[in-house]
Amino acid sequence: MQQTQGSADGEALLPAEETLLVRRFQERLGIPGLVDVHTHFMPERVLRKVWAYFDSFGSGATGGIDWPITYRHDEDERLAVLRGFGVLAFTAMLYPHRPGMAEWLNGWAVEFARRTPDCLHTSTFFPEPGVERYVGEAVERGARVFKAHVQVGAYDPTDPLLDPVWGLLAEAGVPIVIHCGSGPNPGAYTGPEPIARVLARHPGLRLIVAHLGMPEYEDFLGLAERYGEVRLDTTMTFTDFSERIAPFPARALPRLAALGDRVLLGSDFPNIPYPYLHQLHALERLGLGDDWLRAVCHDNGRRLFRL
Ligand SMILES: [Zn+2]
Repeated sequence: MQQTQGSADGEALLPAEETLLVRRFQERLGIPGLVDVHTHFMPERVLRKVWAYFDSFGSGATGGIDWPITYRHDEDERLAVLRGFGVLAFTAMLYPHRPGMAEWLNGWAVEFARRTPDCLHTSTFFPEPGVERYVGEAVERGARVFKAHVQVGAYDPTDPLLDPVWGLLAEAGVPIVIHCGSGPNPGAYTGPEPIARVLARHPGLRLIVAHLGMPEYEDFLGLAERYGEVRLDTTMTFTDFSERIAPFPARALPRLAALGDRVLLGSDFPNIPYPYLHQLHALERLGLGDDWLRAVCHDNGRRLFRL
């Protein structure tokens, strides 16, 4: 059901060709650009470590899935690629894997946001002493979105140290993109139950569940149906790559269609094992209609972040 030549998983595209096709996708929909809530920018040496992690995937340690990084460029070039695609606003998803790291990452993110006006100032946190203080400071310094990674951080989102943080973020209305599903690898606290307990205590929390909660798609759709401020990002979903590993159940598509005002485009750029265009075509080929696509790729993000 591939709609445009060249968008097949893994098929290399010339940069100029891809840019043209990504622009054409938006022109056809009549949207002025894309809002991508899930892109990774972080200090260069941290990003290199993330890439090394994905490079190790082919080694068999994780089942032998190959994960070639499509946009392994320096920061300036990565920004130029996104802007060339017509991405009007994007994020700097960064996250700690141990204590003592989040505040340093947040300091970098302040500088990055300052020199990158089209990036939504992003911050992160870890359950550790001082977390309430530095999250409060990040909000005061203008953080527009947070990233939480329950799998990489290997922490319990119901950790008492985080309770005031969730409360603070709920009150401030700042969205949190949270990787809490069990894909691509489960963690001790991934899956719907821990985060459901957080939402029971903080029902107004603006969580954006990354990857539509892959592979526990239906459980996370259920949380979004129950809590009006819960949203979902499309990151990597419906691509040939993800459909091979964790296929989205066709029976849940009507529920996804019904949540059309709370689904947000996310891509995982630059750490994706296929061209950016493929994510857009993967959403298009769902057949949920142009209104749904316009909302997901542009309108919902613009409204949420008041762009
Ligand atoms: Zn990501």
